[in-house]
Amino acid sequence: MVGAALRFPVVSTGDILREAVRNKTQLGAQAQGYMESGALVPDSLVDAIVEERLRRNDCSAGFILDGYPRTILQAEFLSRAFRDEKLKTVVVGISVDDDILVQRISGRRSCPKCGKVFSAASLPSRGELTCDDCGTPLVQRKDDTAEVMKERLEVYHRQTQPLIDHYRKQGWYVSVEGNRPVEEVYGFILGIVKGHI
Ligand code: AMP
Repeated sequence: MVGAALRFPVVSTGDILREAVRNKTQLGAQAQGYMESGALVPDSLVDAIVEERLRRNDCSAGFILDGYPRTILQAEFLSRAFRDEKLKTVVVGISVDDDILVQRISGRRSCPKCGKVFSAASLPSRGELTCDDCGTPLVQRKDDTAEVMKERLEVYHRQTQPLIDHYRKQGWYVSVEGNRPVEEVYGFILGIVKGHI
């Protein structure tokens, strides 16, 4: 992972929200319905989680945000909240055709215990689908079904895609061709981020 290679914490709003749902916290209860239907969780909830997380000490030298911001209002919140910190920012968008995305997501499984993610290509071809690190049976995310995926793609095009222009105007946006093997995409992103720090 790029974060591990650079020793930056990776702050994934999706992971934080899924953990809250698993732990049945108040945040989890508020977020669950939106997540399971493929909608975005309201900005005010997500903004508060991100701000609290990024103010912790381990983020003081840098951090990687994954899955945030996803709306123009979130992007505006982020730049307002950190306007005094003189952050060097790069926004990396991985570009993948919708049909390939649907194919990849339908084959995605993850380990509910250690969180390791498997793609269709990395799954064992026969027998039980278990995590090769800890042996736990793999599960499919509830929002990775065909119906919810369709909604998530629509939400992406309507609410998140406008961020590309928003960040292009600031000179921060780099697009990465994602229709390539994982290792190539990884190497490319690592190079981009290293070039900015
Ligand atoms: P992800 O793991 O990034 O695909 O996120 C899974 C789900 O969590 C999304 O479909 C949303 O319901 C919710 N979510 C994650 N990040 C955000 C965000 N920045 N804003 C609103 N909802 C989010």
